[in-house]
Amino acid sequence: MIDIPLSLKVALEEEAKKNNVTRDGLISAILAEHVNLNVHTVFQVSTSGALVAGVYDQEVTVGALLEHGDFGLGTFAGLDGEMVVLDGRVYQAHGSGKVTEARADAGAPFAVITRFTPDMSGTITDVTSFSDLEARCDGFRASDNIFYALRLHGRFSYIKTRVVNPPEPGVALTEAAKSQSEFELENIAGTLVGIWSPVFSSQFSVAGYHFHFISDDHEHGGHLLDVKADSLSFQIENLNDFRLVLPETETYLKANLDRDIAAELNAAERGH
Ligand SMILES: [Zn+2]
Repeated sequence: MIDIPLSLKVALEEEAKKNNVTRDGLISAILAEHVNLNVHTVFQVSTSGALVAGVYDQEVTVGALLEHGDFGLGTFAGLDGEMVVLDGRVYQAHGSGKVTEARADAGAPFAVITRFTPDMSGTITDVTSFSDLEARCDGFRASDNIFYALRLHGRFSYIKTRVVNPPEPGVALTEAAKSQSEFELENIAGTLVGIWSPVFSSQFSVAGYHFHFISDDHEHGGHLLDVKADSLSFQIENLNDFRLVLPETETYLKANLDRDIAAELNAAERGH
């Protein structure tokens, strides 16, 4: 049993009487509706355009992000590394090569998160490059017009990642991306956390595939640039409910986001 405050109990009783249902029935219906709301829903905090325009202060805390899901990716306040959210834990890959678990009060300027509930699974073999991986994942996507979450796990014969380093305040992402660290790893077990976004979303999301890597030992991670693997388990979730949470900070509210950022973002996010 759960403890419900008296005021809520009274409100529930009234609502139940009004709808001619029992209180337990009403609570079940509310819970069911809430859970459904989270299935196939993806939450994005801020826009890729804002990030490109240099809006990368804290817009949300890691703790608040986790209320919206257990799987996703993003970056940290001040562009301090790459974020990987896996099984409800938030990992921060630092430019130094270290990976730490982020605290609940750590800040993020941009993140995409979902409660991962796969619709389909399979195996992908003989992945020879990033574009090869894209082509193989394409085979599991029935549409170009919704979002997808993708989870791949296995032993990678080769992985190349990049981790952004914190730039001086106000420096654009395209400039910041130039001070990124790159890592190459061989024969490493881990997970790729991926989001696929439609081309039409390029004004506010990272269109196409966007993968972040985290090794099974949680010691290596970053934004995926290149990949080779013999065999990977594969899971995909259709995301047809997209929620965009816009920041309320002064920096965001005053930023000029009217220009075409798709090309700039391509240069920064897709270095492969
Ligand atoms: Zn990334």
